[in-house]
Amino acid sequence: MEGKLIIICAPSGSGKSTIIGRIINDERLRLAFSVSATTRPRRGEEVHGVDYYYLTEEEFKKHIENDDFAEYQEVYPGRFYGTLKSEIARINADGKNVVLDIDVLGGMNVKKIYGDHALSIFIAPPSIEVLRERLIKRGTDSMEDIERRISKAEFELGYSDKCDHMVINDDLETAVAEVHHLVDTFVNPNWEEE
Ligand code: 5GP
Repeated sequence: MEGKLIIICAPSGSGKSTIIGRIINDERLRLAFSVSATTRPRRGEEVHGVDYYYLTEEEFKKHIENDDFAEYQEVYPGRFYGTLKSEIARINADGKNVVLDIDVLGGMNVKKIYGDHALSIFIAPPSIEVLRERLIKRGTDSMEDIERRISKAEFELGYSDKCDHMVINDDLETAVAEVHHLVDTFVNPNWEEE
């Protein structure tokens, strides 16, 4: 059986990593995380091959030339992020559904390619102010990076209605339950009818 794709679009600091971490542990959903390639530097405890494949700009551009990406974006000026076709193939070959944590423009491109095989969910912070507080509290980015992320979040929020669903992460447990329900219904459609 061909696996499905779950596209999670969310500004950084919206709690998406926590939400993804929680739903990916449910074996019933048969999910596996697509590790993206990026040219941004490693942050905190991140691990190559687990959080991202950290590439130089030259390596990244080589992959573009070779048509290795299902999609890629310059998410921040000079910082590239992309989904390797080989990641999707690897996860599909394992009989699993692919979870993509990508920006909203990348998400729209994947949705265009995979159509009904893909479900896109936008996770929004309750407000830009709450997002700023969360990013400051996280303590992993410089103030300059935080402001860059805030303007990107404002931009992405403008596209949130292009996703199939939007979940507001005000209360974490509620947001996890909502995302879980959406994914479960999508990957196990027949189970719900029983
Ligand atoms: P971060 O630097 O916080 O890990 O990620 C920054 C942004 O890049 C997030 O919005 C994340 O979803 C997005 N991103 C991560 N991987 C990819 C990818 O493969 N493709 C695209 N288009 N965006 C990505």
